[in-house]
Order: sequence, then structure tokens, then C-alpha cells
Amino acid sequence: MAKDCAPDCSERKDLAYDVIVAGGGAAGVGAALAASRRGHVLLVETESTVGGDLLTGMPIYGAWNSLGEQCVGGVLNDLMAECRQQPDGFIGPVCDWRTVYGLCLSPAALHLAILRLLHACGAHVMLKSTLTRVGAKDGHVGDVEVASHDGLHRIQCASVVDATGSGRVTELAGGQVEGPGSQETPQPMSLLFRMSGVSFGEFLRFVKENPAEFLLAENPVYGVTPPEAAQRVHDGGLPYAALSAGGALLGGAIAGGRVQPCTAFFITPTSRQRREVCINATRISSTTLLDARGTSCVLLDLAEQVHQSVAFLRASVPGFSGACLSSVAHRMGVRETKRIRGDESLTESHVLNAVKSSEGIAKGAHHVDIHGSGTKQIRKPVHGGGTYDIPFGSLVPTGLRNVIAAGRCISSDRSANGSLRLMGTCMATGQAAGTMASLLAESRAKNRDIRDLSVTRVREVLRQDGAILDGIR
Ligand SMILES: Cc1cc2nc3c(=O)[nH]c(=O)nc-3n(C[C@H](O)[C@H](O)[C@H](O)COP(=O)(O)OP(=O)(O)OC[C@H]3O[C@@H](n4cnc5c(N)ncnc54)[C@H](O)[C@@H]3O)c2cc1C
Repeated sequence: MAKDCAPDCSERKDLAYDVIVAGGGAAGVGAALAASRRGHVLLVETESTVGGDLLTGMPIYGAWNSLGEQCVGGVLNDLMAECRQQPDGFIGPVCDWRTVYGLCLSPAALHLAILRLLHACGAHVMLKSTLTRVGAKDGHVGDVEVASHDGLHRIQCASVVDATGSGRVTELAGGQVEGPGSQETPQPMSLLFRMSGVSFGEFLRFVKENPAEFLLAENPVYGVTPPEAAQRVHDGGLPYAALSAGGALLGGAIAGGRVQPCTAFFITPTSRQRREVCINATRISSTTLLDARGTSCVLLDLAEQVHQSVAFLRASVPGFSGACLSSVAHRMGVRETKRIRGDESLTESHVLNAVKSSEGIAKGAHHVDIHGSGTKQIRKPVHGGGTYDIPFGSLVPTGLRNVIAAGRCISSDRSANGSLRLMGTCMATGQAAGTMASLLAESRAKNRDIRDLSVTRVREVLRQDGAILDGIR
């Protein structure tokens, strides 16, 4: 059994860490790995493993910009290096000739890579454990309470990273959070699945010969027509394409009630050897998605949509007739919950105009991507295909001194959130938050405040740790 990888709660002695990271999705993994370079770290996660949506096989978006430049490094580079060590573990950044590049990895390889790196860096991990309370005074968190199956544990800390995806720690500490407005329906939930035994060649011929069936050439930076884009997808040799509801094939199936209304079947390669792809096609949209009951009820309906989708693909989409279901995601995907109110807030204009900042601690690159109900989706590419900088202040919850947010819940308007919520960007803000939290913990001052950290110093350390902050468009 691996030793010293979790806190020993049995002795009832005071548990204390430099940094507690709440939430083990893309952001929490980035934060824990980064913070461990400088301090003693505890990662607390409600589920029974870490990695969140990284384990589903979706492409990691936001790590390469639309021009093909890598814009997230650091922790992601370490994970990619681990995946490369495993046979069939690494596919690489692939252009969809629609809007962006996605980093395609084997989710199984990535899962093992995350666990191995967490173990190697010496971070403690508490699984099946939920941070339920924080001891905060005047905006300063001194300890947290964690509920595990063996009881409640009080744990002291110098700083906390809120990587819960919903600003839960910020809310518990007395900070402010906001969700979609009363007139807005939260983005739909989905259940991802994978199919193996796909004939890549047959599918790609279908793409080449039927560009109107796919979402292609949306981003002006590619300067290609849909048929030219289809040819390039074909020539790339990987089934990375989105079968569109606007086409006759999927549109007809939706109209005939054989498939749930959706924008597209987003198809991503996850294994060359197993000829496997991940499929993002199911969706349920409802105003009740933010409460526990509403969330729980949709799972069974989503599972039915997986059945329908697999049947449709096998019956109607070239390349899938001999394919079978190989995996269903271990959890439903949540696109949108709550965002923190921070000292600075990212806006749509900042994202779309690729605004750079001298206080940037991470980069984002994905288009504004907001899924609606049925076949609706808003997609607005970043002008010029470059990157925008995510400033220090957008990770800092207003009124709190030693809590730093990371991932989907950082401070932003809803539209900007539609871009920065992608996994590559979440990992980058996670690395930044973990670094900020560990530097804050190092300064032994009582009542330390994250705002007293020098942004220049944070940026220097991030660069040393391989993060990409400048030098690209
Ligand atoms: C259907 C769908 C498709 C998507 N497609 C893509 C895609 O193709 N590419 C891409 O890059 N991104 C995609 N995304 C977006 C992306 O997956 C998420 O936005 C991103 O993974 C969020 O990461 P996070 O770490 O901020 O949050 P999460 O991954 O939600 O992690 C938060 C973690 O915190 C834990 N937690 C919450 N509260 C507590 C607590 N109190 N104590 C302890 N643990 C807690 C949760 O269990 C969870 O594991 C998609 C999302 C969905 C839903």
C-alpha cells in the first residue's frame, strides 16, 4: 500500500497543511501539483478519484490557440510526458478545422498519469471527502471541516484553493458567488460516452465527401471553405469532427425523434489501437440543474440518450456500423454553476479581443462557447485566433484574504466563462492558484493577504515552473 499519501485522521492530532485544495478536477489537479512544489498540500475531493472531466476522453481545449500555438504548459507538460510513456497514451494536439485545436489523450493514460504525479509530488489526497465548513474570521480562513465516511475532520491551513467548480469554498467563507441570471437557463448537462472499433478510414471518407453534414471552417483564421476543411480533416487521419444537427443525417434523426435534440455529435479520438472515440452528444437543459434534486433526476434520462445515440451511430453513420459502446463517463458533465465575484472580472470583450495584461497569470484561447437548450449553441471565436491573459485579480475573491479560486468558477461574466471553463484553461488557472497559495503560505506573516503578493514574483515562479505567460499571439 502506498505510504504517506493521505492524512492520518485516526490519531485525532491537529492536522495542518500549507495549502488545502478543495476539488480534484482539472483545476484542482493543476493547483495541487503546482502548490506541492513549495509546500505541504492536501487535496480534498468528494468523488472516489481525481481528474474530473479529464477522465472522459474529451479533447483538452484552451491549451493550444486556434493558430496552433501551445498556450498552457507547466503541469500539463508533465502530464503529457507521462502519457507519452504509455503505449497508445498520447495522440496530440489536433485541429478540427472548425474553430480550435484540442489536445487528444487516452483518458486511461491520463488518469494514471495524474495519480502517479500526485503521488510523486508528495501531496496528500482525501477522497470521498467533502469540505463542508470553513473557519473564517475577517476574510481569513484558519481551518476547514471535511466530512468523510469516517467522520468530520478539522484541518488547519495557511491558504485554500477553491477548485470546487462552483465557488463553494468562497461561499462558505463569506465571499460572493453568482450563477446564471433569473432569465437564463444554465447550460445543459451531458453524459459523455466512448465507442471502440470505429473504422477511422470509412468515417473520414464520409467527412470528405459530405462537408455539409459537419461543423467546419467557422473560424475565419483558417481561411478555408467547408469542403477544403473536410479534406484537411480527412488528410489528418483522425476522426475529430462534429456531425451537425444542421445536416440532413443528424437533422433528420432529430426531426424523426430517433435522437435527442443537440447541436452536434462532437467526436474525438481517444485511442488509435482500440479505434476508439469519445462522443459528446447527449444533453438536458433545465432551470433546476443547479439544485441537487434536479441534477440527480437527469442521469437516467441522459443514460437513455446514450442508448439512442449509440443506436443512431451504428445504424446511420459510416464507420460506426461495427463499433460498440466501450465506456460511459463516471459522472455527468456540468457546464455551468456559480462563479465567484473577484477583485477583477473577465468580460466577453476581454476574451474576444485577445486582451493581454501585465498581471496575467494564465492564458485562455477557446472561443466563447455557450450551449443552449435543444440545438442551440453560441460560438464566438477569439479574434485573430490568439490568446487572452487571465489577470491575477480574477482568481481573488473579493473580501477574502487567503482563498484563491481556480478553474470554471473564477470571476467572469457568463460569456467569458463560456471560454475559460475549458479544461486546459482550468488547469492553467489551477497551476496559478496553487502557486499563489503556496507563495502566500511561505510568507509566515499572521493575517496574510493574497493581495500583498508581488504579481511579478508570481509570474516569475510560474515561468520557472513551465507555465506559458508570454511570447505567443
Ligand atoms: C458535457 C461537457 C462537455 C465539455 N466539453 C469539453 C471539452 O471538449 N473540452 C474541454 O476542455 N472542456 C470541456 N468541458 C468543460 C470542462 O469539462 C469543465 O468546465 C472543467 O473540467 C471544469 O474543471 P474544474 O476543475 O473547474 O471543475 P470540476 O471538474 O467540476 O471539478 C470540481 C471538483 O470539485 C469537487 N468538489 C466540489 N465541491 C467540493 C467540496 N466542497 N469538497 C470537495 N470536493 C468538492 C467535485 O466533486 C469536482 O470533482 C465540457 C463540460 C461538459 C459538462
